[in-house]
Amino acid sequence: MNCRRCGQLLFTQPSLTALISLRPLVKATLCNQCRQAFDRIDQAHCCQDCGRADVDGRCRDCMRWRKMDEPVLQNRGLFTYNDAMKDWIERYKGIGDYNLRDSFASDIVQFMQMRGCAFVPLTTEAGHFAERGFDPVLGLFAPLPLREWLVKDNTQMPQAKKNRAARLKTPQSFRCVATKEEMAKFDRICLLDDLYTTGRTLHHAAAAILTAGYKGKVISRSLIR
Ligand SMILES: [Zn+2]
Ligand SMILES: [Zn+2]
Repeated sequence: MNCRRCGQLLFTQPSLTALISLRPLVKATLCNQCRQAFDRIDQAHCCQDCGRADVDGRCRDCMRWRKMDEPVLQNRGLFTYNDAMKDWIERYKGIGDYNLRDSFASDIVQFMQMRGCAFVPLTTEAGHFAERGFDPVLGLFAPLPLREWLVKDNTQMPQAKKNRAARLKTPQSFRCVATKEEMAKFDRICLLDDLYTTGRTLHHAAAAILTAGYKGKVISRSLIR
Protein backbone atom coordinates (compact mmCIF):
# COMPACT_ATOMS: atom_id res chain seq x y z
CA MET A 1 0.00 0.00 0.00
CA ASN A 2 1.11 3.58 -0.62
CA CYS A 3 0.96 6.53 1.75
CA ARG A 4 -2.30 8.42 1.20
CA ARG A 5 -0.52 11.75 1.39
CA CYS A 6 2.89 11.52 -0.31
CA GLY A 7 2.43 8.29 -2.26
CA GLN A 8 5.58 6.52 -1.03
CA LEU A 9 5.38 2.81 -0.47
CA LEU A 10 4.37 1.80 3.05
CA PHE A 11 5.96 -1.11 4.82
CA THR A 12 3.35 -1.89 7.38
CA GLN A 13 3.91 -4.52 9.96
CA PRO A 14 1.52 -4.60 12.87
CA SER A 15 3.34 -4.06 16.16
CA LEU A 16 3.41 -6.82 18.75
CA THR A 17 1.20 -4.76 21.07
CA ALA A 18 -1.35 -4.37 18.29
CA LEU A 19 -1.29 -8.11 17.64
CA ILE A 20 -1.81 -9.15 21.25
CA SER A 21 -4.43 -6.47 21.97
CA LEU A 22 -6.99 -8.63 20.07
CA ARG A 23 -8.50 -5.45 18.66
CA PRO A 24 -9.35 -5.47 14.96
CA LEU A 25 -6.25 -4.43 13.06
CA VAL A 26 -6.57 -1.23 11.10
CA LYS A 27 -3.70 -0.78 8.69
CA ALA A 28 -1.66 2.40 8.73
CA THR A 29 -2.40 4.50 5.66
CA LEU A 30 0.07 7.34 6.19
CA CYS A 31 3.86 7.16 6.42
CA ASN A 32 5.52 8.37 9.62
CA GLN A 33 6.68 11.59 8.03
CA CYS A 34 3.18 12.49 6.83
CA ARG A 35 1.64 11.57 10.18
CA GLN A 36 3.88 14.15 11.78
CA ALA A 37 2.52 16.89 9.51
CA PHE A 38 -0.83 16.61 11.29
CA ASP A 39 -1.22 18.21 14.69
CA ARG A 40 -2.89 15.94 17.25
CA ILE A 41 -4.89 17.66 19.97
CA ASP A 42 -3.73 16.95 23.52
CA GLN A 43 -6.97 15.63 25.05
CA ALA A 44 -5.76 16.50 28.52
CA HIS A 45 -5.48 20.16 27.57
CA CYS A 46 -8.44 21.33 25.50
CA CYS A 47 -11.73 23.19 25.93
CA GLN A 48 -14.01 21.01 28.04
CA ASP A 49 -17.04 21.75 25.81
CA CYS A 50 -15.78 21.89 22.22
CA GLY A 51 -12.35 20.25 22.44
CA ARG A 52 -10.43 23.24 21.02
CA ALA A 53 -6.68 22.73 21.52
CA ASP A 54 -4.65 24.43 24.23
CA VAL A 55 -7.55 25.85 26.24
CA ASP A 56 -7.91 25.75 30.01
CA GLY A 57 -11.50 25.27 31.07
CA ARG A 58 -13.94 26.60 28.49
CA CYS A 59 -13.20 28.74 25.41
CA ARG A 60 -14.99 32.04 24.73
CA ASP A 61 -17.17 30.58 21.98
CA CYS A 62 -18.41 27.90 24.34
CA MET A 63 -19.19 30.45 27.08
CA ARG A 64 -21.46 32.07 24.47
CA TRP A 65 -23.06 28.72 23.56
CA ARG A 66 -23.80 28.15 27.25
CA LYS A 67 -25.78 31.41 27.40
CA MET A 68 -27.97 30.38 24.47
CA ASP A 69 -30.96 28.10 24.51
CA GLU A 70 -29.00 25.24 22.98
CA PRO A 71 -28.09 21.74 24.16
CA VAL A 72 -24.71 21.54 25.90
CA LEU A 73 -22.41 19.47 23.76
CA GLN A 74 -19.19 17.75 24.73
CA ASN A 75 -17.14 17.62 21.56
CA ARG A 76 -13.65 16.24 21.17
CA GLY A 77 -11.55 16.65 18.05
CA LEU A 78 -8.59 14.57 16.94
CA PHE A 79 -6.54 17.13 15.03
CA THR A 80 -6.19 20.90 14.70
CA TYR A 81 -6.98 22.60 11.39
CA ASN A 82 -3.34 23.25 10.46
CA ASP A 83 -1.96 23.66 6.93
CA ALA A 84 -1.53 19.93 6.34
CA MET A 85 -5.12 19.31 7.40
CA LYS A 86 -6.48 22.19 5.28
CA ASP A 87 -4.67 20.69 2.31
CA TRP A 88 -6.04 17.22 3.12
CA ILE A 89 -9.63 18.51 3.39
CA GLU A 90 -9.26 20.34 0.09
CA ARG A 91 -8.11 17.14 -1.61
CA TYR A 92 -10.76 14.96 0.05
CA LYS A 93 -13.82 17.20 -0.08
CA GLY A 94 -12.87 19.93 -2.55
CA ILE A 95 -11.27 17.88 -5.31
CA GLY A 96 -13.18 14.81 -4.17
CA ASP A 97 -10.45 12.15 -3.83
CA TYR A 98 -12.43 9.34 -2.19
CA ASN A 99 -9.25 7.24 -1.74
CA LEU A 100 -8.29 9.55 1.11
CA ARG A 101 -11.24 8.47 3.25
CA ASP A 102 -9.20 5.95 5.26
CA SER A 103 -6.24 8.29 5.96
CA PHE A 104 -7.16 8.48 9.66
CA ALA A 105 -9.01 5.16 10.05
CA SER A 106 -6.72 3.79 12.77
CA ASP A 107 -6.83 7.05 14.75
CA ILE A 108 -10.61 7.10 14.51
CA VAL A 109 -11.02 3.52 15.70
CA GLN A 110 -8.70 4.14 18.67
CA PHE A 111 -10.24 7.48 19.58
CA MET A 112 -13.79 6.17 19.59
CA GLN A 113 -13.62 3.09 21.71
CA MET A 114 -16.80 3.72 23.63
CA ARG A 115 -19.25 1.21 25.00
CA GLY A 116 -23.03 1.58 24.96
CA CYS A 117 -22.74 4.36 22.44
CA ALA A 118 -24.57 4.83 19.14
CA PHE A 119 -22.47 6.53 16.47
CA VAL A 120 -24.54 8.90 14.39
CA PRO A 121 -22.78 10.55 11.43
CA LEU A 122 -23.80 13.99 10.20
CA THR A 123 -24.59 12.92 6.68
CA THR A 124 -24.37 15.18 3.67
CA GLU A 125 -27.44 16.78 2.19
CA ALA A 126 -28.71 15.20 -1.04
CA GLY A 127 -27.60 18.12 -3.23
CA HIS A 128 -23.96 17.88 -2.10
CA PHE A 129 -24.00 14.12 -2.38
CA ALA A 130 -25.11 14.37 -6.00
CA GLU A 131 -22.36 16.90 -6.73
CA ARG A 132 -19.52 15.02 -5.04
CA GLY A 133 -20.67 11.45 -5.59
CA PHE A 134 -19.85 10.37 -2.05
CA ASP A 135 -20.51 11.32 1.54
CA PRO A 136 -17.24 12.50 3.13
CA VAL A 137 -18.39 11.88 6.72
CA LEU A 138 -19.61 8.35 6.01
CA GLY A 139 -16.33 7.59 4.24
CA LEU A 140 -14.23 8.91 7.09
CA PHE A 141 -16.05 7.08 9.88
CA ALA A 142 -16.77 3.88 7.92
CA PRO A 143 -14.73 1.66 10.34
CA LEU A 144 -17.34 2.37 13.06
CA PRO A 145 -20.83 0.83 13.29
CA LEU A 146 -22.79 3.83 11.98
CA ARG A 147 -26.47 4.59 12.48
CA GLU A 148 -27.87 6.97 9.93
CA TRP A 149 -30.49 8.51 12.17
CA LEU A 150 -30.14 12.06 10.93
CA VAL A 151 -31.23 13.38 7.56
CA LYS A 152 -30.12 16.78 6.38
CA ASP A 153 -32.42 18.81 4.17
CA ASN A 154 -30.90 20.85 1.37
CA THR A 155 -29.74 24.27 2.53
CA GLN A 156 -29.36 27.30 0.31
CA MET A 157 -25.65 27.85 0.79
CA PRO A 158 -22.99 25.41 1.99
CA GLN A 159 -21.42 26.20 5.40
CA ALA A 160 -17.97 26.38 3.83
CA LYS A 161 -18.99 29.39 1.74
CA LYS A 162 -20.26 31.39 4.73
CA ASN A 163 -18.55 33.67 7.19
CA ARG A 164 -18.81 33.08 10.92
CA ALA A 165 -21.88 35.27 11.55
CA ALA A 166 -23.78 33.73 8.64
CA ARG A 167 -22.88 30.22 9.82
CA LEU A 168 -24.26 30.89 13.29
CA LYS A 169 -27.58 32.11 11.82
CA THR A 170 -28.10 28.96 9.74
CA PRO A 171 -31.56 27.52 10.47
CA GLN A 172 -32.10 23.95 11.64
CA SER A 173 -31.97 21.51 8.72
CA PHE A 174 -31.63 18.14 10.49
CA ARG A 175 -34.44 15.66 10.97
CA CYS A 176 -34.15 12.61 13.19
CA VAL A 177 -35.55 9.51 11.51
CA ALA A 178 -34.98 7.06 14.39
CA THR A 179 -37.70 6.11 16.84
CA LYS A 180 -37.49 6.92 20.56
CA GLU A 181 -37.44 3.18 21.33
CA GLU A 182 -34.56 2.54 18.95
CA MET A 183 -32.48 5.33 20.47
CA ALA A 184 -33.36 4.41 24.06
CA LYS A 185 -31.31 1.22 23.69
CA PHE A 186 -28.17 3.38 24.00
CA ASP A 187 -26.95 5.35 27.02
CA ARG A 188 -25.15 7.79 24.80
CA ILE A 189 -25.32 9.04 21.26
CA CYS A 190 -22.08 10.20 19.72
CA LEU A 191 -22.49 12.52 16.74
CA LEU A 192 -19.70 12.38 14.17
CA ASP A 193 -18.53 15.15 11.87
CA ASP A 194 -15.41 15.92 9.89
CA LEU A 195 -14.94 19.50 11.01
CA TYR A 196 -16.09 21.49 14.04
CA THR A 197 -15.94 25.16 13.04
CA THR A 198 -18.50 27.27 14.86
CA GLY A 199 -20.35 24.32 16.36
CA ARG A 200 -23.60 25.43 14.69
CA THR A 201 -24.08 22.20 12.73
CA LEU A 202 -23.38 19.86 15.67
CA HIS A 203 -25.66 21.81 18.02
CA HIS A 204 -28.46 21.55 15.46
CA ALA A 205 -27.86 17.82 15.11
CA ALA A 206 -27.97 17.37 18.90
CA ALA A 207 -31.18 19.41 19.10
CA ALA A 208 -32.80 17.22 16.44
CA ILE A 209 -31.97 14.07 18.42
CA LEU A 210 -33.29 15.53 21.68
CA THR A 211 -36.45 16.90 20.05
CA ALA A 212 -37.15 13.39 18.76
CA GLY A 213 -37.41 12.29 22.39
CA TYR A 214 -33.96 10.92 23.22
CA LYS A 215 -33.34 11.08 26.97
CA GLY A 216 -29.69 9.98 27.16
CA LYS A 217 -26.51 11.99 26.78
CA VAL A 218 -25.51 13.41 23.40
CA ILE A 219 -21.81 13.95 22.78
CA SER A 220 -19.80 14.47 19.61
CA ARG A 221 -16.48 13.73 17.97
CA SER A 222 -14.92 15.51 15.01
CA LEU A 223 -11.82 14.70 13.01
CA ILE A 224 -10.82 18.35 13.15
CA ARG A 225 -11.33 21.07 15.75
ZN1 LIG B 1 3.65 10.01 3.34
ZN1 LIG C 1 -14.86 25.57 23.43
